[in-house]
Amino acid sequence: MIFALVTHDGGVIEETAFQALTLARELAADLGADLHAIWIGDQPDVERVGLYGATELHNVTHDALDDYAPQAWGAALSQLVSGLSPEAVVAIGSDRGNEVMAHLGAILEEPMVSNVREVKPTDGAWEITRTRWGGSLLEETTLDASVKIMTVSEHAVEASAAPTPAGLSAETFIPELDEADLAAKVVDRVTTSQGITLATASVVVSGGRGVGGPDGFEPLEQLAALLGGVVGCSRVVTNNGWRPHSDQVGQTGTVVAPDLYVACGISGAIQHWVGMMASKTILAINTDAEAPMVTKADYAVLGDLEEVVPAIVSEIEKRRGGD
Ligand code: FAD
Repeated sequence: MIFALVTHDGGVIEETAFQALTLARELAADLGADLHAIWIGDQPDVERVGLYGATELHNVTHDALDDYAPQAWGAALSQLVSGLSPEAVVAIGSDRGNEVMAHLGAILEEPMVSNVREVKPTDGAWEITRTRWGGSLLEETTLDASVKIMTVSEHAVEASAAPTPAGLSAETFIPELDEADLAAKVVDRVTTSQGITLATASVVVSGGRGVGGPDGFEPLEQLAALLGGVVGCSRVVTNNGWRPHSDQVGQTGTVVAPDLYVACGISGAIQHWVGMMASKTILAINTDAEAPMVTKADYAVLGDLEEVVPAIVSEIEKRRGGD
């Protein structure tokens, strides 16, 4: 039996969670095992989860699990693991997935392997390929544990529904939680404009040090709005207090994979690059032809972003106005 934790926020599944479900299904097929999905909290999205080949969904419910609480999720999961003894527990390597699986590993005193890209199960230790050092190298390693706990590197696996989805039956599980498990819990939320989040936007217009200050983001906001996207930024920008941390893209920010990533005045340091390298098309706007972002991008405009970005905005407006 393989467990796949379906990470969600208030019932909205993290899109990348389907990548973990896909890897978990392939793993279960390799082992001739069943895939069981785990949903913690109310209102499981049985229909969408069922498309990915799970045969059973364990719905973990408890009065205290009305919102995300990382240690409580880990504790609840550990009780389910102890009861059913799956061979592996898989989650996506999002902030939430990594956090819960780290708690699970700590509670069960088992190792937890993060950022997995490929798994070859064998009779003994499993062979694992995973991303290390912020995505800059791949590690071949083995995992030997009575329950293999892992997270899947975001965007390393393409999500695909099962060719023939099995009928999914749902079972309720009520864990025992104490106050200490709820020491950290979501108590407030900030809604982003238009309901589009950085992690799921199809267009991200990102600014770096080259933007020059908080006011310099206005043309980027205009461009993002015209393209139905959101604004992101580099760590220098958040460190300087020009934008909130929630806008930061990269190793210590949000990992994004939009259709279009526009990097304005961002040099392309590895810690930024690993957070957006899965973008389908990358456009760099930079004054430096040697900047890594420019040399690695699909397209680059060499020039001052203060001129280039407003010029793109006005061209789009002109063309749309002329429709
Ligand atoms: P710079 O590197 O200073 O680049 C500015 C760019 O703007 C240059 O290429 C320059 O040519 C260009 N420019 C300047 N003026 C203009 C103009 N007028 N028009 C056009 N172009 C112009 N960084 C992240 O972004 N995300 C992370 O998650 C992250 N995590 C990190 C974690 C660790 C452990 C460490 C050590 C670092 C991390 N960093 C992260 C920081 C990272 O190493 C870089 O310092 C940072 O990404 C650089 O930001 P930047 O590209 O905005 O600035």
